[in-house]
Amino acid sequence: MYKTWSTPVQDEARLKIPCALCDGEDFVPYLRCAGFAYVRCKRCSLVQMNPQPDEAAVKRRYSGADYFEYELENEKAFFNLGLLALADAGFYAIEEGLRPEERRVLDIGCATGALLGYLAGRGWRAEGVEINGKQAEYARRERGLTIHERPLEENQFPTGSFSVIIASHLIEHLRRPHSFLAETRRILTPRGHLLLTTPNCTGFQARLYANKWRSAIFDHLYLFSVKTISRLLREEGFHIEKTVTWGGLAAGSAPRPVKTLFDKLAKPLGFGDVVMIKAAAPLFQCLKFNR
Ligand SMILES: [Zn+2]
Repeated sequence: MYKTWSTPVQDEARLKIPCALCDGEDFVPYLRCAGFAYVRCKRCSLVQMNPQPDEAAVKRRYSGADYFEYELENEKAFFNLGLLALADAGFYAIEEGLRPEERRVLDIGCATGALLGYLAGRGWRAEGVEINGKQAEYARRERGLTIHERPLEENQFPTGSFSVIIASHLIEHLRRPHSFLAETRRILTPRGHLLLTTPNCTGFQARLYANKWRSAIFDHLYLFSVKTISRLLREEGFHIEKTVTWGGLAAGSAPRPVKTLFDKLAKPLGFGDVVMIKAAAPLFQCLKFNR
């Protein structure tokens, strides 16, 4: 079974942490992988790697040249998936509803900046966050983009800076998803949109492949379901406007007609491998539920 690229398992200090969603401390084993393990919270069902490395160790994972090379090699494929996600999220309707000067987008984890370059070409004021220095440099040099190299929370963007924020296959890599979403909400305009994509741990492939699932990898600190990612967003005050899952079977895992059928069914039945959520920030920053 093909797996997504990931940092090789490191022998590093790791800490047991409470549930990142509900602070619970009661877990059941979920997946045992080579060198790391996931547990499921008994109270809220969030699946998280536990124990986890600290934030500095997580940041170091994404500093290497091999990560840049992987992203560059797959740039075209990832760009095309990004375009499909924009279309499915209703991005073009959002765009139409904004005056040209309101079109300000931030792509967090923007890699080589292909999608941002496309959006800049459509007249958006486009900025990216990319902590891999080589990718940030490439996006600046080849595409003339503004790229911030620090993790989101360290950039101190002014409140209400962006009308759209894109975070594709990012949140599962982060140590503190609540803090990430709180900062995302703060820097969005009132009713601005977050377009978020993450693997779906209750999808068909996740159930079929278990610890061989392509998203059960060392870099993924959390494996969200539609339910847990939705709760996380709501707790940070977001209003979920659309949820869609994609991908029934992995390429090459079944005869083409079977794969086509599964891929078609994944969307309406919600068992797809990846979930995309379009969420709107609240009208007032104070509209945040207490945990
Ligand atoms: Zn929990």
